[in-house]
Amino acid sequence: MQTIRFHVKRGDNVAVITGKDRSKTGKVLRIDTRKKAAIVEGLNVVKRHTRAKNNQPGSLVEKEALIQISNIMLFCEKCSKPVKAKSSLLEDGKKVRVCKKCGESFDK
Ligand SMILES: [Zn+2]
Repeated sequence: MQTIRFHVKRGDNVAVITGKDRSKTGKVLRIDTRKKAAIVEGLNVVKRHTRAKNNQPGSLVEKEALIQISNIMLFCEKCSKPVKAKSSLLEDGKKVRVCKKCGESFDK
């Protein structure tokens, strides 16, 4: 099985660079590798009606919808803007992603 790696992963702080939530930020909750999309906390929220059943009234549920991975960027808190990451090798040989601008590490 091939492991697909994206520039973002679960738990990352990301910013959306397109669409109605442009420049908003949130935390990656889930990555869908097959669809190359991610669920980001509080972003791309859609309202869904649930149908009434078993005497329970229907309700309006807000739920995050998938965002294409190509539409999100890592958000650097130090730069306070979406940035590109580059990989950097630590002294112990571990590979981390760091901000291309300020060098802040995204993998702590
Ligand atoms: Zn930075």
